[in-house]
Amino acid sequence: MRASRLIGLIGLAGLLASPAGAVVVPGFNPRIEDVIVGPKVRPQAVRTEGTWYTLPGRVAPGPGGTIWLVETQGQAITDGTLRARFAGVENVEVTLVVRAVLSEDQKRVVDAYGMYLKGRDVALVRIQNGRTEVVKKARLYRHRADGVELVAQLFDRHLIVNIYDGDKGALLGSLSTSDLPRHPGSIGLVAGDRWLSDSPMTLLTTRPLCQDVPSDAHRGPPHVVRIAEVSGVRPKDWGDVMERFPGEPPTVAVRTGPVGVERLFCDGPELLSVTNDLPWKFVDTTYRMARGRDPVQAGRGFDLTKSYKNVDMVNALLTGWHRRYPRNTQLHRIGTSRQGRPIMALAIAERIEVNDPRPSMLLNASHHANEPVSTEFVLDAIQQLLESKKPSRAVGRILRGMVVWCVPVVNPDGNWGFFELSRGLGRKNARDLDGDGRYTDRDGVDLNRNYPFKWGALGEKGSQSDPLSRYYRGDRPASEPETQAMMALANQERFAGSISFHTGTIAVLAPYTIDDTQNPEPNEAWTVAEEIVKGLPPHPQNRPFKVVRQLYSVDGTDQDWLRHEHGTLALLVEGAQYTPRDLSAVPPIVESVRPLWVRLLERFVEGPAVSGNVTDSEGRPVYAEVRVGGVNLREGERWMTRCRDGRFDRYLAGPGPYTVEIRARGYPPIVMAGQARKGKREHLKVRLPGPAVPSADCPVR
Ligand SMILES: [Zn+2]
Repeated sequence: MRASRLIGLIGLAGLLASPAGAVVVPGFNPRIEDVIVGPKVRPQAVRTEGTWYTLPGRVAPGPGGTIWLVETQGQAITDGTLRARFAGVENVEVTLVVRAVLSEDQKRVVDAYGMYLKGRDVALVRIQNGRTEVVKKARLYRHRADGVELVAQLFDRHLIVNIYDGDKGALLGSLSTSDLPRHPGSIGLVAGDRWLSDSPMTLLTTRPLCQDVPSDAHRGPPHVVRIAEVSGVRPKDWGDVMERFPGEPPTVAVRTGPVGVERLFCDGPELLSVTNDLPWKFVDTTYRMARGRDPVQAGRGFDLTKSYKNVDMVNALLTGWHRRYPRNTQLHRIGTSRQGRPIMALAIAERIEVNDPRPSMLLNASHHANEPVSTEFVLDAIQQLLESKKPSRAVGRILRGMVVWCVPVVNPDGNWGFFELSRGLGRKNARDLDGDGRYTDRDGVDLNRNYPFKWGALGEKGSQSDPLSRYYRGDRPASEPETQAMMALANQERFAGSISFHTGTIAVLAPYTIDDTQNPEPNEAWTVAEEIVKGLPPHPQNRPFKVVRQLYSVDGTDQDWLRHEHGTLALLVEGAQYTPRDLSAVPPIVESVRPLWVRLLERFVEGPAVSGNVTDSEGRPVYAEVRVGGVNLREGERWMTRCRDGRFDRYLAGPGPYTVEIRARGYPPIVMAGQARKGKREHLKVRLPGPAVPSADCPVR
């Protein structure tokens, strides 16, 4: 979902709804800061390249203005706090450099670390031997302020940067690294082409590390510092201890504000890492307490409302349900993630059989594992199907009439990353693109852009070829094991209907969602989607569900692949605007989504729909193409029977006469006619004359 893209990029979901009275931390204090550019201070550069316009409280590049450095090399500020204000943001393009070293001819910066700002794009960059490499990038939160204030704090190898709204002090973005070069150097500006002189730098100050440290340790955006736990240091004086790690010496993770980071550093223990890119575990105490514990037993199953769940907790629930309801469930490992985690599915039906002959349905979530509420929707479905003492009429019909395959976490590595490593992770899987052996925001493929149908078809519009992008589609279609696992399951089951759950807005997406893809005509998927949202009460996050074709241009999605490959009535449900921090907000959201999957599944039992089995003269399944008459397929779709039993299942848009045409190799086409009625699903038994011809697409079992 795009609205969350900006927030997700900087890993700050939830922090950015700035409270009233937000302030810059630490705030500007002319008594303790060395003012280089500011009111009544004449800016003094030591080294410039090109023309610069300088006045008290004003520095901007003129013709050819590229470099403006304020400290000579060797006697520079290498650690401490650096503050810079710019009068505009749209017309600024600048790299604020620290520890900068010039080339011999003094005309270029050859080594430095920098904070790049261009409009709303910000990045940490490393300049090495004159080459600039982007280390991290982010996008400033949407704001109306004229200017921005950037506060950078340097501690040896560590750098934290927070960027605030210049008027109101609201936090707009944060970046951090623990990879700073140690050499000394200057601070200053490297101007980009887009920096216009009407948006000058208006303030530049420094304060040496550990001198006149302000006292407000806890204030400001949260950071997590990992330090050695050594005697004489009391981390809780300056923050909240989040986690302890055994070792020699033992280490602790401490959550604190930007000033608290400096306090901890100045207290003496070695700073092992600093980040403002917090994983979910450091912003959600309930989750932190619940993880690692067994599922909470309650009633006829489990209490799902106690916390959000990492993939281990989800798998423990699936196992628990399977133990408790062995006759109505099968637990399957349908694949293995990049990092070797199992991808688990719970198949549910009344007295489920091996190779069950009933139609199959699919509910899946967390393709994008940074959308953990999506997993709650699938867990709720499992709970409703299994634990109801007196199942509703709808649930009873679903349980008897079909097998519901539930995959609560399609992307287990992403789920783990989001909860345990960084909220910037989880959108993508953990494919180690940069080969550094770690899962970072430089890694991963967006699994919901990795499916082979129209993979990358829209160029850079529907997905991205840049591995750093959150929409990276992978280097080839279905490159990822998670994608392959879902495809293999779909090829085995030929789902009649499916829902892929996401969050980010409130909507139901009906296929096809990819631009320039022609829907079957009539398009029963749209009709049914409209039926299932009809008359639903408003969503607790305020918008009623609406059927849409897409939110923005996409390609390579699971939904469209399921539709094109197997004719599945594949919906995507965006079931929450955002992930509520307050857990009590989750059950009403889950309840508002529940009717969608109940109605979709019940609608198949209820019809109008048509099912059938195609067999040969000896009753063996036949792999055959099944076309419903009058449905005009325009994308080369060939929807085939299920290998194990020759079964096919189709929703029909409405009542009325229909025909079913069966085409199988070695047989003349067969056309059967029927009358679709509401409240009725036809089941056709099609027996072809003579023995079946084996198909390469259906391995002999
Ligand atoms: Zn999503």
